[in-house]
Amino acid sequence: MSKTVAFIGLGHMGGPMAGNLVKAGHHVLGHDLVPAAVETATGTGVGPASSAARAVAEAEVVISMLPAGRHVLGLYDDILAAARPGTLFVDCSTIDVADARMAHERAAAAGMRCLDAPVSGGVIGAEAATLTFMAGGGENEFTEARPLLEVMGKKAVHCGGPGAGQAAKICNNMILGISMIAVSEAFVLGESLGLSHQALYDVASTASGQCWALSVNCPVPGPVPASPANCDYRPGFAASLMAKDLGLAANAARAGGVRAELGLRAAELYAAYAEQVGAAEDFSGIVRTIRNHDGGRP
Ligand code: NAD
Repeated sequence: MSKTVAFIGLGHMGGPMAGNLVKAGHHVLGHDLVPAAVETATGTGVGPASSAARAVAEAEVVISMLPAGRHVLGLYDDILAAARPGTLFVDCSTIDVADARMAHERAAAAGMRCLDAPVSGGVIGAEAATLTFMAGGGENEFTEARPLLEVMGKKAVHCGGPGAGQAAKICNNMILGISMIAVSEAFVLGESLGLSHQALYDVASTASGQCWALSVNCPVPGPVPASPANCDYRPGFAASLMAKDLGLAANAARAGGVRAELGLRAAELYAAYAEQVGAAEDFSGIVRTIRNHDGGRP
């Protein structure tokens, strides 16, 4: 059934996600602080709203896709009073678990319903509607949001109560960040021992070292032709986003007193690497700083 959706944050991810909702027959009103982002989205059939409050006034569902928790909480402060009672707020941004729980509380206090539903799959997944959503909140809210999430992605998993979607996202990306460093260190060690990239790949990809960081996003050129290493580490999944997600995981580990030594170290290594390359390189490019072992670029 067609829904009236307000979509706030029409950037790299939000723009194509909103466009996919339009394609599926939903009425989408969009808003972004950057006029160019709104203009691009209107090209895909999104109706422009002059403010976020205007966008949400008639909406049944409000979806946000913003940079960080402070943006989401700031937005909710601005728009909760403008929405109809009982409106479903779905935040798809990647934010701190504590901020996500706060967003749920503020929405509930204003008489609204809420779901945190961050994504994995990147800009390509947003465009191709192949994202995976990880949702936190009530069963009813998940059931109601699911048809919209399935229009924007290929899979939606209900992970638990408020904040559980964000928790799943940062735990998954902590595995990914650590495993990319492990794979990179193994290739660099292999180089020093005279082992070819292809030989190590052929063994590890079918042995116990197998993982996504190796067999899909292989950090050295050659063994996996589609990996970013074959096109000078153009993203892919930007180093700055990995640094952000590992920072969120490190915050959560510290707050919970969790002994995540590798996760904390991975957060430090990615923060230093992302300081140099920002969003210009895929996160697998960290292999070059490991090879240079001075933290410098190749
Ligand atoms: P982006 O910077 O391209 O888009 C964010 C948009 O939000 C910008 O256009 C900005 O102008 C807008 N914005 C900020 N505050 C606003 C406000 N108060 N009202 C209206 N608009 C506002 O970022 P992105 O790459 O689209 O990422 C969005 C979120 O998705 C982030 O939390 C990111 O961590 C997450 N994410 C990104 C990727 C990726 O590959 N880009 C992958 C998975 C998750």
